[in-house]
Amino acid sequence: MELKANRIPDEFKRVVPRGMRLVQREDQDFLLVESIYCPKGHNLMVDSVRIHGEPSIKLEITVGGSKGLVFVDAFWGSHAKLFSFLPECGEGGHLEGFCPYCHVPLKEEYPCPVEGCSSKSAMVLHLPSGTGRVYVCDSLGCPGHVLDVSTIPHELAESISGINFFGHGTEDIFGGLE
Ligand SMILES: [Zn+2]
Ligand SMILES: [Zn+2]
Repeated sequence: MELKANRIPDEFKRVVPRGMRLVQREDQDFLLVESIYCPKGHNLMVDSVRIHGEPSIKLEITVGGSKGLVFVDAFWGSHAKLFSFLPECGEGGHLEGFCPYCHVPLKEEYPCPVEGCSSKSAMVLHLPSGTGRVYVCDSLGCPGHVLDVSTIPHELAESISGINFFGHGTEDIFGGLE
């Protein structure tokens, strides 16, 4: 799977929030999540599982009656995920996310902005020092994700939220990671 570049607005490059950084790959800019936390402050980044060469975001999830760990690509707009188990339901199934350390639920009411997705809830992850939050749609296979940072103009945050590097599909599920 190759990373496809989406243009990151120049205005955003000047106001990249804490917890995120720009990286260059083959002369193109990508936005990378660098540190992100559960509501109780546990660092969810792990070095031991790398996706596209970078640390990933570790979450505990339940989906379709099974429970396990998922490692989410830190590249903004990618929704590549490595599951520690094979979710039994397909696309559209609902994920429930938890901190893998303190098991606090990450779920909040948040209508997904993606057209055709009817999910009304998201998994909420926190950027450092209360600078902002990242909402990830909890519908399996939906690419919906939103950046909510109070110091960034709303429209700019919206254009960043709309970035997707990958198509929508079951390719997310690599499965079988021990
Ligand atoms: Zn926690
Ligand atoms: Zn969605």
